[in-house]
Amino acid sequence: MGHLKGQTAVITGGGTGIGLAIARRLAADGANCVLMGRNLERLETQAKTVERARAIQCDVTDSAAVEAAFEDARRDGPISILVNNAGIASSAPFHRMGEDEFLRIQDVNVTGVFRCTKAVANDMRTAESGRVINISSIAGLSGGPYITHYCASKHAVIGMTRALSAEWAKTNTTVNAICPGYVRTEMAEGAIRTIIEKTGATREQAIAELAKNNPQGRLLEVEEVAEIAGWLCHPDSRSINGQAIALNGGHSM
Ligand code: NDP
Repeated sequence: MGHLKGQTAVITGGGTGIGLAIARRLAADGANCVLMGRNLERLETQAKTVERARAIQCDVTDSAAVEAAFEDARRDGPISILVNNAGIASSAPFHRMGEDEFLRIQDVNVTGVFRCTKAVANDMRTAESGRVINISSIAGLSGGPYITHYCASKHAVIGMTRALSAEWAKTNTTVNAICPGYVRTEMAEGAIRTIIEKTGATREQAIAELAKNNPQGRLLEVEEVAEIAGWLCHPDSRSINGQAIALNGGHSM
């Protein structure tokens, strides 16, 4: 296709799972991708597998590091696509959930999105065709047990998406959220391990338990999320703004 030729796309958490699949998808459409994350070695290894991609180390909880990383990313031209994908999850019953853990999740999943979006605000307000894509979750649209902190963070991401899309509606930049159910990645592996640990279930039973949250009874593949991100970046998608697009095989949880 090539309609993103010459555009710079930053994908946080771009070295693994959903982020890496999105980078591949945007690169296939011509974008120059910058993969950000904490693990530089992994990012560099993966960047070699994506056309025209490069890796920049960045911890989204560190404001100064975010500023410096985006300055570096801007080296080849203004950033016109930002995919806020970096995220973390854990689980605990609410009565055992510590404030530290609650804040740790918000720092990456919410304030991290705030920091990275701030870093591209000037690029986006003047872009010919700008896109901010926030990876929220079905947990941003509905509740589930043992993930109060994660649900709070992913609901907040949708709130930011809606507010900023309204604020920037007169620019050429759209702001949308993608809300997947369980996707087959390392993060879902973590949930599978927890179920096995806490309940003694087999791996197959644990996967089936997660799949129950999806009316189609399966886990999503990373390419399904990447496809929506690619579609949102298409010039003909410019009317889609402020949306939280659920991707969970039907009604959620
Ligand atoms: P992964 O664990 O593979 O990806 C998480 C990514 O975030 C990693 O690349 C990690 O890179 C990066 N990251 C974590 N903390 C930081 C940080 N402080 N600074 C910078 N980067 C960070 O899982 P997924 O691909 O599944 O997750 C991607 C997104 O999708 C997350 O926001 C998640 O909440 C969301 N999501 C996932 C679902 C699933 O079932 N898998 C379902 C719905 C939403 P590094 O370690 O190098 O920093």
